[in-house]
Amino acid sequence: GQAVLEVRGLSVEYATGGVPVRACTDISFTLRRGEILGVAGESGSGKSTLITALTRLQRPPAVTTAGEILFHGRDGSAPVDLVALDGRRMRRYRWTALSIVLQSAMDALNPVMRIGAQFADVLRARDRSLSKRDAWARAVELLALVGISADRVRDHPHQLSGGMRQRAAIALALACGPELVVMDEPTTAVDVVMQRQILAQVLRLRRELGFAVVFVTHDLSLLLELADRIAIMYAGRIVEVGEAAALYSAPKHPYTQGLRDSFPPLHAPLRTLHGIPGTPPDLRRPPAGCPFHPRCAQRMTGCEERLPVLLPVGPKAGHEAACRLNETNTDTDTDAKTDTD
Ligand code: SF4
Ligand code: MG
Repeated sequence: GQAVLEVRGLSVEYATGGVPVRACTDISFTLRRGEILGVAGESGSGKSTLITALTRLQRPPAVTTAGEILFHGRDGSAPVDLVALDGRRMRRYRWTALSIVLQSAMDALNPVMRIGAQFADVLRARDRSLSKRDAWARAVELLALVGISADRVRDHPHQLSGGMRQRAAIALALACGPELVVMDEPTTAVDVVMQRQILAQVLRLRRELGFAVVFVTHDLSLLLELADRIAIMYAGRIVEVGEAAALYSAPKHPYTQGLRDSFPPLHAPLRTLHGIPGTPPDLRRPPAGCPFHPRCAQRMTGCEERLPVLLPVGPKAGHEAACRLNETNTDTDTDAKTDTD
C-alpha cells in the first residue's frame, strides 16, 4: 500500500545540564495507509518520546536533532516534512491530518466543559461554517461510534467511567477525519475487559474509516491482537521490526524474546512469566556496543564493542533485527567490524 508516514533517521535529545540524553536514535520506518504499527518497549525505551516527536507535541528540553517525518496527504500532493513545519503550519495538520490519544483521557478532555462542547470546539475551529447545533449533532454521531449514548453528550468528563472517557478521547481524535492517529498506552488505565473492548473498537473504526495508527504500549501481547506490524524499541532504538504474527511467534532479538515472555497473551491461561533481568540503561551513559548487552543472556564476545544494525531476518519480508545472533559472519571480530562501522 501507499505510505502515509515515512520516518527517516529521526533522533531526539533531551538537552539537560551538560550531557545531552539521546532518547531516540536514528529511528526509521514507513507506515502505510490504514496500517496499525505497534511500538513496544519498557518504560524509558523512548517510545513516548517518539510519539511526541511524531506529533510535534514535544517541549524543551526535548529537541529533534536529526531526521525527517514525511507526511503524505490523501490528495497525492508532495509529502510534507513535519519536522520542518513552524508551529502555525503544524496546527493546520493537527486533528485533520493526524491526532493523538494519550494515556489518560483527562489530559485530552477539559474537566469543566461538557463532552459535547469539547467536540463542538474542535469541529468548529476547523470548520467556521458549522453551526453550534450541527456541531453538537456531530458530537452525538462521533460518540455513537465508540458506543457512548446520546444522553452522555451533556455530561462532564468526571461523570463518565474511566473506560468511557478513554473512548470519548478516541472519538474526539477521530472528529476531523485524520489519516493518522497516534495512541500512547490508551488502555493502561482501564481494566482488561474494557481494554479488549477499546482494542476491538479501534480495529472496527480503522476498518470503517481507514486511518492509520501508531500504537505505543509496554505490553507486547496486546499488539498481537491489534497491530499489523510491530516495532520493538530498546534504549531509544528500534531493535526489531516485522509483521506482527511473525515477530511474536519467532522473535529474533533476545530483548523481544524477553518482552514476549514478560506478558501473557490475552487469550492464554496464566503461566509463569519470565521478566527480563536488569534494568534499561541510563541514556546519559548508554552502554558501548549493543545497548542490550549488559542484560543479554546470549551475548557473545564483541557484543560490548559493536553496535548491531537492523538486518533482514526472514523468512517473512520486512522482518529485521539488530542482533549479532542473526548475522551470518560473527566469528571473527575484525571481519564483523568492517561490516557496520
Ligand atoms: Fe545479545 Fe549480542 Fe544480540 Fe546484543 S548483539 S542482543 S548482546 S547477542
Ligand atoms: Mg511512556
